[in-house]
Amino acid sequence: MLSYQHIYHAGNLADVQKHSLLAWMLEYLTRKDKPLTYIETHAGRALYDLGAEEALKTGEAAAGIAQTRGWFNADHPYSKVLDRVVAEDGPKAYPGSPLIAAHLLRPTDHIHLAELHPREHAALELAMSPTGAKIHLRDGFETAFALCPPTPRRGMLLIDPSYEIKEDYTSIFRHINKLHRAWNVGIIALWYPILTNRAHEPMLEALTAQHPDALRHEVRFPPARPGHGMVGSGMFVLNAPYGLADEAKKLTARYAKLR
Ligand code: SAM
Repeated sequence: MLSYQHIYHAGNLADVQKHSLLAWMLEYLTRKDKPLTYIETHAGRALYDLGAEEALKTGEAAAGIAQTRGWFNADHPYSKVLDRVVAEDGPKAYPGSPLIAAHLLRPTDHIHLAELHPREHAALELAMSPTGAKIHLRDGFETAFALCPPTPRRGMLLIDPSYEIKEDYTSIFRHINKLHRAWNVGIIALWYPILTNRAHEPMLEALTAQHPDALRHEVRFPPARPGHGMVGSGMFVLNAPYGLADEAKKLTARYAKLR
């Protein structure tokens, strides 16, 4: 039974890290003329209304994108997408990762999105229908295993699970290794929470030992509510594009000022 709904968390400080690095990577990949494949295992609904009751209830977007919007110059790819989505969908509209991809990729690129929750999937279909993305109502890892290695071979995979099941932390390590073996040239990016109970740590230790050349970027931020277990977020990126580490460093400095 899936209970996680990203609308409560859209635009929070974890999204700002994940979405700004994702936008940077996608823009980097499109500097070459060649078509590419973008795959997402856990897509969510793609378009969020930060004025919705759920988003206002947690206040996470207010502490997130509303507070950090000025970090990104007008020519940053994340900024460009934020501006376009507001212009197209209204002042409270916020793009999830699939919509960020749709805005930054080209008609020759291929987008595959998996979302298992029927309501989120329906909303995803609605938001993405004009884009030509392929939408899968299927487990995200099963979808990625079936697609990898994709055609075209260039491209990236975003893994952004809701970590609702404790076993996720052990299975993700195995899944990433399998996907990397199948698609050794693909960029594989995993988002993860930094938790006070340290549940994420064994997964990260195993990933770092197995892939010492991967980029591991972590930011810390104040918890959304007193006592809330998430105190930061991370991105673990295999085959990280050149320049991503510098982009991530800029973010680290900005997050440090929040604490
Ligand atoms: N990537 C999105 C973004 O940044 O805008 C947010 C995704 S949210 C963190 C995780 C999503 O994964 C939820 O919408 C949830 O319904 C979905 N989900 C949970 N388990 C799944 C599974 N096994 N396969 C595919 N989707 C799943």
